[in-house]
Amino acid sequence: MSEKKWSTISLFIIWLLIVPPGITYFFITQMPETINFTYVLLFIIFGMLTAFFPIMRNGQPITLVMWATLPAFLMYGIAVEMIVMQLSIFAILFVTRRHQKQLHRFFLNSIMMFILSLVAAGAFYVVGAQVGSMDFWSLLLGVAVYRLVHTTTNFGLLNMYFEAKGLKNPYTAKDIVFEYATLILILPLALTFYLMLNIVGIASFLLLGFPFFMTITIIRLYSRTEKINEYIKKAGQIGSELSVMTDEELVSTQFIKKTSELFKADYVFLFSNHDQWLELERWYERKGFVERQFQMIQIGEGVAGMVLETNEPVIYSKRKDWGQYATISAPEDLESVLCIPLTHNNETNGILLLGSNRKAAFGDHQLKILDLLGSYYIVALEKARYVQEALQRSERCALTKLYNYRYLEEKLHFEMNRMRLGDIEDLSVIMLDIDHFKKVNDTFGHQSGNDILYGLARILEKATPDYGTIGRYGGEEFVYILPDFSKAEAVDFAERLRLLIRQHAFTIIPDLGDDKYPVKVSITSSVGVANAPMDTDEAMNLLRNADRALYIGAKQAGRDRVAEYVR
Ligand code: GH3
Ligand code: MG
Ligand code: MG
Repeated sequence: MSEKKWSTISLFIIWLLIVPPGITYFFITQMPETINFTYVLLFIIFGMLTAFFPIMRNGQPITLVMWATLPAFLMYGIAVEMIVMQLSIFAILFVTRRHQKQLHRFFLNSIMMFILSLVAAGAFYVVGAQVGSMDFWSLLLGVAVYRLVHTTTNFGLLNMYFEAKGLKNPYTAKDIVFEYATLILILPLALTFYLMLNIVGIASFLLLGFPFFMTITIIRLYSRTEKINEYIKKAGQIGSELSVMTDEELVSTQFIKKTSELFKADYVFLFSNHDQWLELERWYERKGFVERQFQMIQIGEGVAGMVLETNEPVIYSKRKDWGQYATISAPEDLESVLCIPLTHNNETNGILLLGSNRKAAFGDHQLKILDLLGSYYIVALEKARYVQEALQRSERCALTKLYNYRYLEEKLHFEMNRMRLGDIEDLSVIMLDIDHFKKVNDTFGHQSGNDILYGLARILEKATPDYGTIGRYGGEEFVYILPDFSKAEAVDFAERLRLLIRQHAFTIIPDLGDDKYPVKVSITSSVGVANAPMDTDEAMNLLRNADRALYIGAKQAGRDRVAEYVR
């Protein structure tokens, strides 16, 4: 049995020894002769309702339950007060439902409230107040002391508890001040309630209950609007942060982290849509990203697959509601789910799923905000992709993905300048041209020629030495820029390249004729080498020299060879 279970069981035993016998004891010893059970029932209903609709502040439910437990105490004493309070705790736990530790929390809170009721009632008697009395000033004093002692003991016990557990006390000074300040509300309410009960009887429940719960509802509505505004503001901030990023991976990383933070989600899953199949791109838990093998899921499969199918967002508040659709990969402690399609221009690019291990963690308004965030994300992603592509286009050749002549020329000037400054001593350039490439095109078709160019580009790229640069200079001509390569080293490298190329068999599928079977094709190349400072000290001359060596020294001499520039 786990440690957690043991501590719950021992807590239960302590509870069993204290709370039920304690309440029974007070029931027997302190009971007034007459009890109106309708009143008691109404007190319980009021207490539970107040606890059930707390006013949320900093995420902590601050309940005003005492406005119902205090009149119960003034009417009937400690036993009835305890019963009303204990049942209200039950409702509080229901509001702050956490799927684990539920029982543990109940016993702990129950014992604590028992002690608080006892201590506060003691203080009430100590200052001379009496249950059932109609002496206003004595009652006022008694109720004020009751409440102050209750609150102080509460914070004292909580503090002891957090210290014993080595936890940080989550209550700020502001929370504590707020809690004491509710006295201003509780004191007159509880007293009025009690006095009216004595004067007008049962109608008091209506006279006081109606305005009280109305006010609570208005405050709750107001704080909900505040909360939504806060969400919209934060979503806007996230959107503008994403919009300036130009790296796709960074966009999605930030989006996931910020979304998880904003919605207090324990899990974030981001799926990409590959033609009706979903691939899990990112798996995020609060600790960070998780690398996990994950099978693709089909449209209609699992919650994400269903959202892909219907293209409608969904929200679930507990596992029971979605468990039957779950795929095997769903985390075991997952309860609440928020899932939306990521759609742009009528196309679903992916699915986003937020999960929490609490029940009812997400609300409808959060779904709408997430939808908004999702569209910020998609637009930011598209933009990053576009920027990256534009950047690539300007310095890369579209067919071979190698650098283009513009980049090569810039790089050559840069390296030449480095040589002038003395950073490097040598700079070699190699120019390579495929032999009889026209014939390859004529025999196998232009597309096959393109395939060979692409394949050759990969070979050349792989062979590139450290600090060297390879690019496509033109049609079937490639150039290496090799800093710190002497002419002899460059010739050596060129010779190895030539052999590498002539030994390679390129596999192509000819696009001419009817036979579409793979064919192996070999090619040869002619290579020219020039060096600075040996042959020139000007960048464009270096290229021209390599070109001269290529045509005169290699092509004209019979092809499939390396030639160095000679003046
Ligand atoms: P050699 O260099 O040995 O003198 O003969 P060659 O047949 O290779 O002649 P040249 O270099 O003058 O012609 C280059 C040919 O390469 C012309 C064109 O058909 C082909 N070529 C150039 N760019 C491309 C391209 O992007 N794709 C394809 N498929 N072919 C290209
Ligand atoms: Mg050629
Ligand atoms: Mg050529």
